[in-house]
Amino acid sequence: MDIEKVGVIGAGQMGNGIAHVMALAGYDVVLSDVKQEALDGAMETIRANLSRQSSRGKITEDEMNAALKRIRTTLKLPEIGLTDLVIEAATERETIKHAIFEDLLPHLQPHTILTSNTSSISITRLASRTDRPERFMGFHFMNPVPVMQLVELIRGIATDEPTFAACKAVVDKLGKTAASAEDFPAFIVNRILMPMINEAVYTLYEGVGNVRSIDQSMKLGANHPMGPLELADFIGLDTCLAIMNVLHDGLADTKYRPCPLLTKYVEAGWLGRKTDRGFYDYRGEEPVPTR
Ligand code: NAD
Repeated sequence: MDIEKVGVIGAGQMGNGIAHVMALAGYDVVLSDVKQEALDGAMETIRANLSRQSSRGKITEDEMNAALKRIRTTLKLPEIGLTDLVIEAATERETIKHAIFEDLLPHLQPHTILTSNTSSISITRLASRTDRPERFMGFHFMNPVPVMQLVELIRGIATDEPTFAACKAVVDKLGKTAASAEDFPAFIVNRILMPMINEAVYTLYEGVGNVRSIDQSMKLGANHPMGPLELADFIGLDTCLAIMNVLHDGLADTKYRPCPLLTKYVEAGWLGRKTDRGFYDYRGEEPVPTR
């Protein structure tokens, strides 16, 4: 099937990146959120990121302006129903995602493909609460979306082949690479990445190292481009905790127990870059470790 219009639900860090790359690839985008500030912030970020790409010569000014014209924002979820492909990128909480799909279903066209950008929640379970489990799948972008090459495509137990093929064609049109993952907790990337981040937080919690020494060790000692705590701040500590909880609950193995220190940061509202404080404090000129 031909996909021309894409609906993106949730205008946070992922939603704005998804709207950005979709519009640049020529899709008409409707971006929705429950908060006007999130929509305004998303458009500001998209404008800034597109103009950075344009000033670096990666896209032309005409392409930038055309992409901006293709994005419409709305607080009204039913407007998302008129699209061919929906990508849900709201907060990583299962109850929120179920409620969004429930509200959206009566407004959907019969052919519309529903997807979720969830990092960890069961695609099969999300799909089972909709009227179209065969046209439902996981469409998992990496952060930051305009930069990262990979998209994980996750089939639920009922996902049909035309749906997979249509989503794969979208990934190809974006110029990104699709990896197919089975529907088990956290799929491939986060199944491997999150336990490493959680272990870095345990290393901090047990006093084996401080924030700086842990990040430096993994950068210089394991050749990682970012330290695990810096990366956790970048992803969002609430999202990291949510994914660890999904691994812990879904695989019932104590090796996935979220570190109590990660929980404490989230309870404090120190969620990383998006709240200006996490394992580093970003309020000054340079990030300063908080431990
Ligand atoms: P975020 O906190 O930056 O943004 C979430 C947005 O969802 C907010 O703007 C919030 O207002 C909005 N929202 C909440 N309830 C809503 C509702 N009922 N309807 C519409 N919008 C609603 O979170 P994020 O980092 O963009 O993550 C979004 C999704 O993407 C999550 O499922 C997350 O697991 C996934 N994801 C995140 C990353 C990452 O690195 N942060 C990477 C891949 C996938």
